[in-house]
Amino acid sequence: MSRKSIQTALLAIGAAAVVVACTTSPLGRKQLTLFPSAEMSQMGVAAFASMKKQTPTSSDRGVNNYVNCVAYAITNTLPERQDWEVQVFEEDSANAFALPGGKIGVHTGLLKVAKNQDQLATVVAHEVAHVLANHSNERVSQSYLANAGLQLAQVAAGDPTPAKQQLFGLLGIGTQVGILLPFGRTQESEADLYGLDLMARAGFDPRASVALWRNMAQESGGNQPPEFLSTHPSHDTRINDLNGRIPQVMPEYEAAKRAGRRPQCG
Ligand SMILES: [Zn+2]
Repeated sequence: MSRKSIQTALLAIGAAAVVVACTTSPLGRKQLTLFPSAEMSQMGVAAFASMKKQTPTSSDRGVNNYVNCVAYAITNTLPERQDWEVQVFEEDSANAFALPGGKIGVHTGLLKVAKNQDQLATVVAHEVAHVLANHSNERVSQSYLANAGLQLAQVAAGDPTPAKQQLFGLLGIGTQVGILLPFGRTQESEADLYGLDLMARAGFDPRASVALWRNMAQESGGNQPPEFLSTHPSHDTRINDLNGRIPQVMPEYEAAKRAGRRPQCG
């Protein structure tokens, strides 16, 4: 295709995207999401492949079984069925991430802060909530509006370039090993609250979320890992918000237990 016809095609794609651009987050917030989910998945899959090339994965059987057990319990109760790939990365920072296309990454450093299955479930559910709530789509869409014409899927799969670094940042992972970027305040709060629903539905005790964020605050001694770094919400705000929401999700947790969803991980 000539440059001109590529531009025309991109404009057409842009126009088509704008028609379907308004979605609603799981908590009822109006969102601008320009990209079809298939395209977001492509980007997520490419980013995850890149991450696996750059960062060693753990070969510890026990650790892999434990993390997979927690992640599976959560993804198995999601309304939309898909296979999720879970990888444990040998990385000291207390972090995790999830990407469109069904990808979950957990750093070994997180396992020192998340002391039990319910605390680990808090983080995994928070990350999966970012994906289900289309938060990367929102961020990539905003950037797309600023740089119309960028062929994002190709950028994601291609050689390291500043554009690729920027795109990975928007998806929530940095191209530098172990650097995860925070979402905005609204998205973080949404992931916290929707994450509680997801963990409760899977049979993990949502009350463990408070202990997890306290551990995170303590371990970091003021140096929170970047994904959780956002000064907003602060730890106190975050914990207050969680405490406000927990009573609402306890019935789901009780129902999960009655339905036999009682994960025994680790
Ligand atoms: Zn987050």
